[in-house]
Amino acid sequence: MSRLNAHSETHLVARIGWLRAAVLGANDGLVSTASLIVGVAAANAGKPGILVAGIAGLVAGAMSMAAGEYVSVSSQSDTEKADLARETAELAADPVAEARELAGIYETRGVDPALAAEVAAQLMAHDALGAHARDELGISEFTTARPIQAAITSAMTFSAGASLPLLVVIVSPAPFLVPLVACGTLLGLGILGALGARAGGASVARATARVLFWGALAMAVTAGIGRLFGAAV
Ligand SMILES: [Zn+2]
Repeated sequence: MSRLNAHSETHLVARIGWLRAAVLGANDGLVSTASLIVGVAAANAGKPGILVAGIAGLVAGAMSMAAGEYVSVSSQSDTEKADLARETAELAADPVAEARELAGIYETRGVDPALAAEVAAQLMAHDALGAHARDELGISEFTTARPIQAAITSAMTFSAGASLPLLVVIVSPAPFLVPLVACGTLLGLGILGALGARAGGASVARATARVLFWGALAMAVTAGIGRLFGAAV
């Protein structure tokens, strides 16, 4: 078997690091809840209705993030376990063919045949399954996927982001609710954008501008739709 890229799809935290994953989760919670609040407010709902919608949005979003992350991490971990089990069986059944296969992989990467065979033999003498997992399957570290932990982390970061616009609703006087939620959300997004860019080593100004643009657009669209349906109902 040679499925070099079978494992290129790793889950969010492994791919981009926990800080950026946390920032993205909070970003999601912030944008979706603020948009929901602005949309419901634009339909002339009262403050209690707006609060209920916002809280329902927080809970629904957190649960959906948790479920999505749980499923994705579990299925990735199942796939890795199955691949490693199959590789273990193949190594036991035909070590010679497996050594040839590994050497072949190094040859396609530019190592000359004699040296490739030597490297394969030495790596397999040291840790056969590890060498095949890494260079054939693309599994660099043996499964550390923890679906429950990933699910809880996603739900918590989403809820943290979602609670900012909800707090603004609670403390805002009704006439200023929409502008205050919008300003608070853009401020929060700006801080998260800068934090995320910092963590990822990207340009802070560009990342912040991008996140502010999409946040403002999301709120503008839901406000427009809220106004449309608020007028129609
Ligand atoms: Zn193999």
